Amino acid sequence: MASGANEVYRALPSVAEVLELEGVSRLAEIYPRERVADGVRAVLAGLRERVGTGQLDGAGLAGCVAGVAGLVERELTERVRLRLRRVVNATGVILQTNLGRAPLSSGAIEHVAEVAAGYCNLEFDLEKGERSRRDVLVEQTILQVLGIGDATVGGNEGLFGAAVVNNCAAATFLGLNTLAEGGEVVVSRGELVEIGGGFRVPEILAKSGAVLREVGTTNKTRIADYEAAIGPQTRLILRVHRSNFEIQGFTEQPSLEELAELGARAGVPVFEDQGTGCVVDLGEVGLPGQARWVRSVRSGMTLVACSGDKLLGGPQCGILVGSAGVMERIRRNPLFRALRVDKLTYAALEWTLMAYVMGREGDLPVVRMLRMPAEAVRVRCVRWAKALRTDRIEAEVVETRSVVGGGTTPGASLASFAVSLRCAGMSEAGLAAKLRGMEPPVVGRVSEGRVLLDLRTVAETEDDEVIGVLVAALGTSER
Ligand SMILES: *Cc1c(COP(=O)(O)O)cnc(C)c1O
Repeated sequence: MASGANEVYRALPSVAEVLELEGVSRLAEIYPRERVADGVRAVLAGLRERVGTGQLDGAGLAGCVAGVAGLVERELTERVRLRLRRVVNATGVILQTNLGRAPLSSGAIEHVAEVAAGYCNLEFDLEKGERSRRDVLVEQTILQVLGIGDATVGGNEGLFGAAVVNNCAAATFLGLNTLAEGGEVVVSRGELVEIGGGFRVPEILAKSGAVLREVGTTNKTRIADYEAAIGPQTRLILRVHRSNFEIQGFTEQPSLEELAELGARAGVPVFEDQGTGCVVDLGEVGLPGQARWVRSVRSGMTLVACSGDKLLGGPQCGILVGSAGVMERIRRNPLFRALRVDKLTYAALEWTLMAYVMGREGDLPVVRMLRMPAEAVRVRCVRWAKALRTDRIEAEVVETRSVVGGGTTPGASLASFAVSLRCAGMSEAGLAAKLRGMEPPVVGRVSEGRVLLDLRTVAETEDDEVIGVLVAALGTSER
């Protein structure tokens, strides 16, 4: 066998020989020479390996060598293909963490493009012609969205501040480190949670340099439990929004107002990791009783942290809003510099916030998807099913539930519709894989022998394109 393989190896051309082939030298007009040589080496190494493992015999290798220019071209195309790709989200999960959470609005994208293409006043005061600070750029807009930034409404001017960091995990870490390093943080046992992606409250608290002081029990924690735990070492009361699970039954948790009142009485700041950044009233879309960012900030918390790319519908970032004094301490923390965001994030966030200020939050994809009536989804599903149905493809419209996802509204779902696909002679997993292999890839949900495409999370502007791609991939009717 080994000597047989040695015979076959001799039929492999050298790198230099392949580089001189017409079909390969032509590639040097598109790719740098070094990249072409890399591609040739990779293709030859692949052939050698297949000979070595017995997958290729002499005749097979001769065939490959005859078509080696094509193999090199394919190798090069694959090597320079961008790895981060657009995906069509037909899962019905609006904030799908694996698919990048909140999509940005076209207005935000235009603003990002304009700011990114040239220079901008990121840290420059155009009026005075002096250096300024990036962290004040969106502060007033955040306070405006929350309804706490206008001196004419309640005389709050100067009472609150806001700042932006890399994500909500960073915001929480920074808040804990600034307010509680070296001291104790009082937390309910029902809130010592894991948010996802390895973000665990006890661990992040330990890393911030604070000491955890657990109170209450998993299901019940009373205001008196917090009060009893407050001592000379207490620096902070922490509240963590249970964003990805629910506790039902025999439960108790003090309201935000009760915590704020206790904090004020005991002289201890109260920090809420709110998470969702929800501004709109989800009761309007049939999800009543959901936690809102606005409500947390107005309930008297000293400091509130949330994500920019959950229900707010903006770019990935973490937003801290709190009393002016606390925000000043946060800005002075050297970690704030380490966790700062770039101009692209500010541009996308600013446009997103302005949409709320202008009452145009319906332009934000996340809000649009939340508000889309089930009937509007059904009408689109009917059109998709009609276009996709063939002799081999069974396509029908079925009722389903969309979920908000991304660690926001556990247990809550929205009535929706999906196109249910089944393909003769193909398993549901095989069909799902075929859809993921399209350009653009379509990600659906596999359920009971079918692939479900929930159109709530597919933009209407994608309908024609995706139907076209699906028809091309699945075939048209021969009837
Ligand atoms: C989502 C979430 C986080 C983490 O937010 P990232 O922006 O992903 O870092 C932290 N806390 C709560 C309560 C959350 O819901």
